[in-house]
Amino acid sequence: MLLLVGAYPSITTAQGRVAIAKKTLPIPPMLIDLVGNALASMDGVIFDDLDACPSCGGQVIGHDMRAKRFAVILDNEKERTIRVFVKRFYCQDCGALCYADAPFYPDTRLAAPVVDLCLLLAQQMPYNQVAQHLRAMGIVVDRGTIRNYASRDFGTIRATDLFGFLLPLSLLNLATFTLDRERRPIVGAEALAACGFPPAGRAPLHGRAAPEERDQRNEQEEKEERES
Ligand SMILES: [Zn+2]
Repeated sequence: MLLLVGAYPSITTAQGRVAIAKKTLPIPPMLIDLVGNALASMDGVIFDDLDACPSCGGQVIGHDMRAKRFAVILDNEKERTIRVFVKRFYCQDCGALCYADAPFYPDTRLAAPVVDLCLLLAQQMPYNQVAQHLRAMGIVVDRGTIRNYASRDFGTIRATDLFGFLLPLSLLNLATFTLDRERRPIVGAEALAACGFPPAGRAPLHGRAAPEERDQRNEQEEKEERES
């Protein structure tokens, strides 16, 4: 079944559409551009904020900066890894090595908005088709990784319908945010908020959310309500 919804039915191209016998989701070129630009614009963004040790709430000191894979995208048919930098800290109380706040779920090698997209698609079709749909959107994730994500519980993925395509709010908000930042460097903390982190179900330990963080969160929620 091919559903063309919204104002862009005529520009769905062969590149954007994955022809699959059982189920075909149209992927509007505009969506491909939106998502591709959002992921590409994250290349080199630095995440270096951590208020306290996530395990014990102790004071942390900076240790080093680690490159982390955010996404793998198709750039002129070639795979290109988008990396961000995440600062590591040592807890002075319990000695734990911990990462700055960054839009990643625990034990995943791709950013949360990409994981969210994998999960949403995996609810709608088999894993190999998920991989094909992602590739048609310019995102590379192998079938095994998709299966792995689908077997885990990441909580509820908030999503919205865009041009007939179900898109995670984390990815849509990141795209909206990066569009606004075309001429300015992207600040990690702002990108983090755009991705919806920290997730509602994962409140900061010891009630340490600063008032300013709460404000960002509220704005984010209002924005999501407007868009959904
Ligand atoms: Zn600690």
